[in-house]
Amino acid sequence: MSEAVDALVIGAGPAGLMAAEALAAPGRRVVVAEAMPTPARKFLMAGKSGLNLTKDEPFPAFAQRFTVGTGALPRTLGYLGQSERAFGPAEVMAWARGLGVELFTGSTGRVFPVGMKASPLLRAWLGRLRAGGVELRTRWRWIGGGFRFDTPDGLRVIRPRVAVLALGGASWPRLGSDAAWVPWLEAAGVTVAPFRPANMGFRVDWSPPMARHFGAAVKGTALSAGDLASRGEWIIGRHGIEGGGIYEISAALRDGAAGFVDLAPDLHHAALAARFARPRGKLSLGNWLRRVLDDPVKVALLLEWGRPLPTDPAGWAALAKALPLRHGGPMGLETAISSAGGVTWDSVTEAQELRALPGVFVAGEMLDWEAPTGGYLLTACLGSGLHAGRAAAARLAVLGPG
Ligand SMILES: Cc1cc2nc3c(=O)[nH]c(=O)nc-3n(C[C@H](O)[C@H](O)[C@H](O)COP(=O)(O)OP(=O)(O)OC[C@H]3O[C@@H](n4cnc5c(N)ncnc54)[C@H](O)[C@@H]3O)c2cc1C
Repeated sequence: MSEAVDALVIGAGPAGLMAAEALAAPGRRVVVAEAMPTPARKFLMAGKSGLNLTKDEPFPAFAQRFTVGTGALPRTLGYLGQSERAFGPAEVMAWARGLGVELFTGSTGRVFPVGMKASPLLRAWLGRLRAGGVELRTRWRWIGGGFRFDTPDGLRVIRPRVAVLALGGASWPRLGSDAAWVPWLEAAGVTVAPFRPANMGFRVDWSPPMARHFGAAVKGTALSAGDLASRGEWIIGRHGIEGGGIYEISAALRDGAAGFVDLAPDLHHAALAARFARPRGKLSLGNWLRRVLDDPVKVALLLEWGRPLPTDPAGWAALAKALPLRHGGPMGLETAISSAGGVTWDSVTEAQELRALPGVFVAGEMLDWEAPTGGYLLTACLGSGLHAGRAAAARLAVLGPG
C-alpha cells in the first residue's frame, strides 16, 4: 500500500522546512517526514547559545566564506553562485522579520533574534506552514529502498511526484541527523564525500597544573592556522580547547596546518620584548610571567605549550607572539557544530537535483560544503532549502496536474 503525494520533503530542519514553504501552494499536497518526535531539534539547540541567524555583510563577501571539500571554487556552490537568485543575509533578515521576529546586529555583524532563542521563530514558522497546507509527520523515519518509512503505525510507503531530501549533516547525531542515508544514496549512484567534523574543538592532553584553568575563557589572543585567523574568545576544557575563536581556525587545523597563539596581539615584538626585559629579581617564574602578561591563563598556556622555555627577552617575546598550539587532533562529530562532506556538487545539477535520481532534490548541510560559524551555516541551509524547493515546485508545474 502506498500513498501518493505531490511533494515529499524528508527532514524537518531549517533546510527542509524552507523547501516545504517553497513547495506549498493551494491544492498541492506537501508532506514533511521527520524521524524525530519533534521538528528542527538542531535549530532549537542552536538557539540555546544565542541563535546566530546570519552575518550582516554584502553578499560577495558572505559567499567567499564557503568552501567545498572536493576542491571546487566557492562560486560553484549551488545557489550561492547565483547571486541574482541568492537567499543571502538581507533575505534571511527580511524572512525572520516576516515571521514577527525582531532582530539585532552585534558589533561583529552577527545577526540574532532580540530574544536570542529559536523557539518563537520556529513556532511562528510551523504555524505559517500549517496554514499553507504543509503536513508535518513526526516519528516518520526514512529507511531507504524508495520512499519507505518506519512509522508508529508500521511501515509506510510514499509515492511523491517530487521529493526534497534535507537530512542534515553528521554532527550531533542525537539531534536527528545521523547520516544513516549515506549508503542508500551511494547504492543509487550518488557520490557522498566522507563526513568530517567542522567548527569543532581540539583534544589536548593537559599536564596536571592546567586543571585549575578548566572552564576558563581565553580572551585577548589572536589565533592562526594556515590562512585562517581569529581574535575570538576560546575555552580551556578538561579534554581540550573549544569555542568561537577555535572554530574559526578549525578547518585549517583539522587539515594539518600548524596553529599558533599570539598572547599579546596588540603589542609589537619590540614592546613585548621590553616587558620581558624587566628584571625577575626574586620572583618565581610564574609570578614574573604574570607581571609581564597580566593574565594567569596566558601564563599557564605559555608554560604548557612553550617548552623548552627561552632564556632572553627577544626569545620570550617571539614565543609569546607565536606560541605553538599543541593539540591531539579534532574532537569528533558528536560535538562538532557542523560537518564538512556530504553529497558532492558533481552529483547534483544547478537546481540541486540528484543526477542519479531525477525528481529528487537535495538541500542543507547534507550537501558537501563548509563554512565558519557566524550565521553562515543557517543562511546556507535556508537558502539551499529555498532553492531546492523552488526547483521542485517548478518541476511540478512542468509535470502538470497529477
Ligand atoms: C550546538 C549547535 C549550535 C549551532 N548554532 C548555530 C548558529 O548559531 N548559527 C548557525 O548558522 N548555525 C548554527 N548551528 C548549525 C545549524 O544548526 C545547522 O547547520 C542546521 O541546523 C542544518 O540544517 P539542515 O536543515 O541542513 O539539517 P538539520 O537541522 O540537521 O535537520 C535535518 C533533519 O532531518 C532529520 N532526519 C535525518 N535523517 C532522517 C531520516 N532517515 N528520516 C527522517 N528524517 C530524518 C533529522 O532528524 C533532522 O530533523 C549550530 C549547530 C549546533 C549543533
